[in-house]
Amino acid sequence: MSFQELYGTAPEGVWAAPGRVNLIGEYTDFNEGFVMPLALPHTAVAEVSRRTDGIIRLYSADIEGGIVQLHVDELEPLTNTSWAAYPAGVVWALREAGHAVTGADIHLTSTVPTGAGLSSSAALEIVTALALNDLYELGLSAQELAVIAQRAENAFVGVPCGIMDQTASACCTEGHALYLDCRDLTTRQVPFDLAAQGLQLLVVDTRVKHALGDGAYAERREGCEEGARQLGVTHLRDVAFEQLPEALDRLDDEKVRRYVRHIVSDDHRVEQTIALLDAGDIRAIGPVLIAGHASLRDDLRISCEELDLVVETAVAAGAIGARMTGGGFGGSAIVLLEATDAEAVTKAVEEAFAAAGFAAPRVFEATPSAGAHRLA
Ligand code: ADP
Ligand code: MG
Repeated sequence: MSFQELYGTAPEGVWAAPGRVNLIGEYTDFNEGFVMPLALPHTAVAEVSRRTDGIIRLYSADIEGGIVQLHVDELEPLTNTSWAAYPAGVVWALREAGHAVTGADIHLTSTVPTGAGLSSSAALEIVTALALNDLYELGLSAQELAVIAQRAENAFVGVPCGIMDQTASACCTEGHALYLDCRDLTTRQVPFDLAAQGLQLLVVDTRVKHALGDGAYAERREGCEEGARQLGVTHLRDVAFEQLPEALDRLDDEKVRRYVRHIVSDDHRVEQTIALLDAGDIRAIGPVLIAGHASLRDDLRISCEELDLVVETAVAAGAIGARMTGGGFGGSAIVLLEATDAEAVTKAVEEAFAAAGFAAPRVFEATPSAGAHRLA
């Protein structure tokens, strides 16, 4: 159903916010380190009108069940377990921050695949936040909207995510990856114009989500905190790459040592990637991506058979680089390749999956796209 059919009038405006994929820097965010996401061409789109009576009406064209109606005075954190908690949480977080949002009629639809590690949830939050920011003239910056959206997801929905996803959806620009320092939230647009160099970045969604992943995030997080404690730093971000061998010598727990090695080396890989991209040499980041995958597989141990198979097969078929991306134990991998090799590499991955008895993966191109913006 359209906005007009649902609510009887045309919307006051239309906004879009993208999903994202992380190029390099995994599990570094909660260690106050560096990440480097880019926005996908896939977006959540919101048509929105203001209301003055406190009522919020939410509708997703992608979910059965019709309109969800709430009231701004009755928004309680952690009570709504449906999809509506994401946009409702944004209204709650804005009001908590003192912004007078007095209701809204919202129609949502999204092309961001859900649950594939591509942040369909952040896209939904950021598109809602941007629409309300514009309509209610709140004057918040893109980064401030990201902080509001993260608060919505952490405190209202109840998901302990870092700040990367929301910042990527709000702040990315076309033809760039976004360098984000998760300590002070400094950002910088790093040139990543794949098409200009005859390259493509593919996302391979394995469509699996292994149960092993439940609890693994918290376990890795605790292991990293333990490492920081033993090394006498507030966060692993404070261990310089040059000091890594010495730091590892001081750790006696084998697991903590692996986690520390991953975090400190992945922060370093972000810096290497920036230097190479600033120098205009996208191809040169291939080995950095491959090393990043090995680190996630062997040190952090969050990969799985399907993700390893994507990376091995793609590289063997001629890809320049590849690695799993996101939380791991399933979800998606990225593959950097010559545009002319895209078809052959895709075919090789699909055949390897079929031969292994895995369900067919979903493969699409990740053009570095624009962050959240108004459409109409
Ligand atoms: P990811 O963000 O990696 O896609 P999450 O589990 O964090 O995975 O978020 C997925 C959830 O976001 C869905 O289960 C749903 O509740 C919500 N969501 C995403 N896209 C939509 C949509 N188009 N309509 C309604 N809800 C959506
Ligand atoms: Mg999410």
